[in-house]
Amino acid sequence: MTTPSELPGEKQLEGDQPTTNIRSLRELMDIVSGRNLKDQIPQEDAGYAEPLPYPFIALVGQPDLKLALCLTLINPNIGGVLLLGPHGTGKTTAVRSLFNLLPEIERSACFYGCLPEDIDVGGMDAVCPDCARKYAEGHPLTIRDRVKIIELPLNARLEDVVGGMDERAANNARFRVKRGILAHADLNILYLDEVNLIENQIIDSILDASAIGSYTVRHGPISASYRSRFSLVGSMNPEEGNLRPQILDRFGLRVIVQGLTDPDQRLEAYRRVHAFRQNPKTTIAHYAEDLLLAANEIAQAKNILPSVQLSDEVARYGINLIQKLQIDSLRAEITLFESARAYAAGDNRTMVTLDDLHHVAPMALRLRRSIYINNFISEQGKEDNKIIEHLNNLIPQEFRQKKV
Ligand SMILES: [Zn+2]
Repeated sequence: MTTPSELPGEKQLEGDQPTTNIRSLRELMDIVSGRNLKDQIPQEDAGYAEPLPYPFIALVGQPDLKLALCLTLINPNIGGVLLLGPHGTGKTTAVRSLFNLLPEIERSACFYGCLPEDIDVGGMDAVCPDCARKYAEGHPLTIRDRVKIIELPLNARLEDVVGGMDERAANNARFRVKRGILAHADLNILYLDEVNLIENQIIDSILDASAIGSYTVRHGPISASYRSRFSLVGSMNPEEGNLRPQILDRFGLRVIVQGLTDPDQRLEAYRRVHAFRQNPKTTIAHYAEDLLLAANEIAQAKNILPSVQLSDEVARYGINLIQKLQIDSLRAEITLFESARAYAAGDNRTMVTLDDLHHVAPMALRLRRSIYINNFISEQGKEDNKIIEHLNNLIPQEFRQKKV
């Protein structure tokens, strides 16, 4: 099993080696619960998910939750997924459990995110000096790397999210803007736990960067632009407050996560979690083969996806459904069709069927109808009728005919 590869430019963090000398009760607890690998992952800002997450295959029940997360891995164009449900229903565990299924992609090998395309567009000045030298010497600027799950820390400040000044570079009399969490999230999954409790300014910057796929930071005369093409995964407990409608609209799929109702499933879930806590490595080893198969299936579905077609006939059924539901946002179509394409790809097919739409429609279209907007439009319609009625009463008929 591969461990998360560290970000280029962070080699100096390698100094901390995992220790076997237990120095505190807390450390012992960490080792018992399988969290003793924390020294091996980069400690800088980006917030990677736990190195030994619960295996995805071992999650009991919750078919919608699992399906939505897999579709998001297969097709980032779905627009991510929002998980809604009370505490303790396994939302965060499920997101972190994707760790073993994450596919590989091609990404920049540079701390500043330089890419060969930058040179094609803006010449050698468009990349950092190191990359310019590498390019000139014929070395690649990109590496093959697994997608990561980046968790937004609960105490993240706007500067952490978009990036502040890089003190290391400033000390060497070179001014650079540090990559923020959004830049680290490029081509990764950005996980926002308790998304309804995140400060407005921060959530707005995340959604803007996600919608455009890049963002610019300015600090005085210095500015820098970064790519930020990531899949958003959010979770929230509706008991703790609503999400603003414009934020809700930005999430592709929506899954209502409820506690397991079948007593046998609850018992099985308890047993598996207990076994995992006792010995996470044994549990992971138990599911290793199935996890590998699942990861391969997702990688294969990702390969097929570009050739998956949506016929006009199937698309019309989808549009019809969206109109019947009185949904205004065009993101409804994008999510419905892109998730249906991912579903077909997952099933190793290159043609979307009505059955695919049927499987994904509830999670793509729920919570999209705005009662407020519908009431607003109908009230507005009444007001417009009143205006016309008064106009007709006040302005003489012959004058109106002349005007027209
Ligand atoms: Zn570079």
